[in-house]
Amino acid sequence: MGTIRPMKIIHAVHEMQDYSEALRKAGRRIAFVPTMGYFHEGHLDLMREGRKRSDCLVVSIYVNPTQFGASEDLEKYPRNFDRDSQLAEEVGVDVIFFPSNAEMYPVNYQTYVTVEEVTKNLCGLSRPGHFRGVATVCAKLFNMVKPHAAIFGKKDFQQLVTIKRMVADLNMDLEIVGMPTTREKDGLAMSSRNVYLSPEERESALCLSRSLLMARERYDQGERDAGRILQSIKAYIESVPSTRIDYLKICSTTTMQDVQSLDQESVLALAVFVGSTRLIDNHVFGEELNIR
Ligand code: AMP
Repeated sequence: MGTIRPMKIIHAVHEMQDYSEALRKAGRRIAFVPTMGYFHEGHLDLMREGRKRSDCLVVSIYVNPTQFGASEDLEKYPRNFDRDSQLAEEVGVDVIFFPSNAEMYPVNYQTYVTVEEVTKNLCGLSRPGHFRGVATVCAKLFNMVKPHAAIFGKKDFQQLVTIKRMVADLNMDLEIVGMPTTREKDGLAMSSRNVYLSPEERESALCLSRSLLMARERYDQGERDAGRILQSIKAYIESVPSTRIDYLKICSTTTMQDVQSLDQESVLALAVFVGSTRLIDNHVFGEELNIR
């Protein structure tokens, strides 16, 4: 089946549900890419993957207030619906689901999903309530879009682990697909938040991807002690102007708890403030790292 033209824009939850139900009854396969909009190539790569895996590709654009802390950038989070819908149409999206806050969290809303252990470390420590908001909105979106597969980026590694855990634990009937991080030519992981960076900060922001390269190199040389790898990266990042480490850890990819040794499957995860912009990146040891 080809793409559905013109691309549909759906605002109402019941309309999205009716539309997906009809597709399912007709035997169509639905792929879903949840986003907060302000698209970059990372988002578009997820959409291209969804396109390959489905008859109907749905992308949601929703800046979810329940995953932002009180002091975070909810109000100033970048938005550009017209540009987003044009890019989505170009990569073959069939439906943009663009709900309002009133549709998502009506008066008297009171139900939340909490994934326990895997959300305790890393971003769970720095952003209390963040993953409760993420799990809740994804559970709701899955019930609205009824996808057979949902595509997420490994750039938000703990988020991917959390969603996989929720889907397994709550017996949700869909496949969760994780895709590699899309990067700028110089290695910076693409992020909607990169627009906040001044030219000087943009240069400093390269310390994240360079840290991953340093860690990969140590790993390739046979280093398996997490502490020694972290120590050298910490010293490096602290030498880069306008940076402040939020966290820098090596964790198990299954429990997300800190590990001392890299003998089990582990991920280097870091969050660094560059100026006032908080950036994250990660590398799973032994996996490909697409930085030159
Ligand atoms: P966001 O709009 O930032 O909430 O991201 C929506 C989806 O895009 C999430 O699954 C993210 O992990 C994914 N994503 C964000 N940045 C990238 C990137 N640079 N490469 C691949 N996926 C990404």
